[in-house]
Amino acid sequence: MRKLLFESFVRAPLTEPPPLPDDAELSRLTAALDRAARRRLGRSLSIRQVDAGSCNGCELEIHALNNAFYDLERFGIRFVASPRHADVLLVTGPVTKNMRDALERTYNATPGPKWVVAVGDCAFDGGCFADSYAIVGGVSEVVPVDLHIRGCPPNPLQLLTGLLALLEAEGAK
Ligand code: SF4
Repeated sequence: MRKLLFESFVRAPLTEPPPLPDDAELSRLTAALDRAARRRLGRSLSIRQVDAGSCNGCELEIHALNNAFYDLERFGIRFVASPRHADVLLVTGPVTKNMRDALERTYNATPGPKWVVAVGDCAFDGGCFADSYAIVGGVSEVVPVDLHIRGCPPNPLQLLTGLLALLEAEGAK
């Protein structure tokens, strides 16, 4: 025990260095996203996140959008607790058989115009869970998807870039 304690004092921590912050890119993206949302909707963007069966890796990146560094709410973009208040459904994970009905009901409860963004490789085609007996498949197997943000998991800047591309897309609803 004493040896273990001593080693924990002299050994370097088993962590990776954090990524260098890109404040300028973050500010540019979030301001552009806010402008695009106001142009499209006349107000800021409300997002409802739905975990349809993910490993929670994608959720960690999505939650990071609300941390002190990204602080998405300072630009008026917020996560809401009900699909009835949402413009965007941000869906993660392969859709499990148990979550299929809940995802359909969440989609139906979201007022139009609405967008569905499938986040992560699993949400695209089942990813590493594709062969599981417990899943239906990617999100588009259950509800119409407007945008896929690939990655395992995609990082917060990729999420913001994807949301911006969605709002700026030609022919968006
Ligand atoms: S894409 Fe990767 S991080 Fe996201 S739910 Fe699938 S395995 Fe987890």
